[in-house]
Amino acid sequence: LAGRSFHPEPTRIRVGDVSIGGPDPVVIAGPCSVESEEQILETARSVKDAGGALLRGGAFKPRSSPYSFQGLGEEGLKLLAKAREMTGLPVISEVMDPENLDRVAEYVDILQMGARNMQNFHLLKKVGRMNKPVLLKRGLSATIEEWLMSAEYILSEGNPNVILCERGIRTFETHTRNTLDLNAVPAVKHLSHLPIIVDPSHGTGKWRYVEAMSKAALAAGADGLMVEVHPRPEEAVSDGPQSLTLSNFSAMMEELAAFRPRK
Ligand code: PEP
Ligand code: MN
Repeated sequence: LAGRSFHPEPTRIRVGDVSIGGPDPVVIAGPCSVESEEQILETARSVKDAGGALLRGGAFKPRSSPYSFQGLGEEGLKLLAKAREMTGLPVISEVMDPENLDRVAEYVDILQMGARNMQNFHLLKKVGRMNKPVLLKRGLSATIEEWLMSAEYILSEGNPNVILCERGIRTFETHTRNTLDLNAVPAVKHLSHLPIIVDPSHGTGKWRYVEAMSKAALAAGADGLMVEVHPRPEEAVSDGPQSLTLSNFSAMMEELAAFRPRK
């Protein structure tokens, strides 16, 4: 079902007034984690002003250490909903386990499946039975084939609205957090009709490289970007080093508007 041969026309996914998969690239931005009302509302306002299309923010966080901040949970979702009310931006947040799926779906416009859950087949099937778009991030060490098979789990349960997200893979390189595999963009375009966006924040792990890789992703034909931004990255409870400040984000958006290649 994910294959081009099955569905030659590119899939476009509508979320409110936003269309993902064309005609124009969309930018999803927001903090790694929702931390407080002030933080998310301030960020949402800037994302909106800079031309972002959707607001992101983690409420249930998949942290490598059990002792790290695990997210605000439902409180975080409520704050996201409040930010949506204030700005009109649709919101996206990660769902980590089947128990919380209904709760997350109640608040968000797009369900995010994180890299660590790309092969959580039980969860994939459950989101496949939801009537809500799903952003499926590529697994830490997943091949493109495995990733498309995970999309297939969602599609085969009846949910046609899957957006793929390249977020970097594990390689021997350690200077960057991950290696952003931009090969995946033309490869997915060739193999599938599903939209693909790129997350240069997790792909690089360093805010300084985010703008260059955002341009590269759009040049490669990505349908959009997902970028982490924070009003005070040095105080962020997660992923501060890869988060753009609000002013860096807005400067990047101006650059991207001038840069946007024709598809
Ligand atoms: C995130 O988007 O904050 C996140 C945890 O991403 P990933 O699943 O790609 O690591
Ligand atoms: Mn993050």
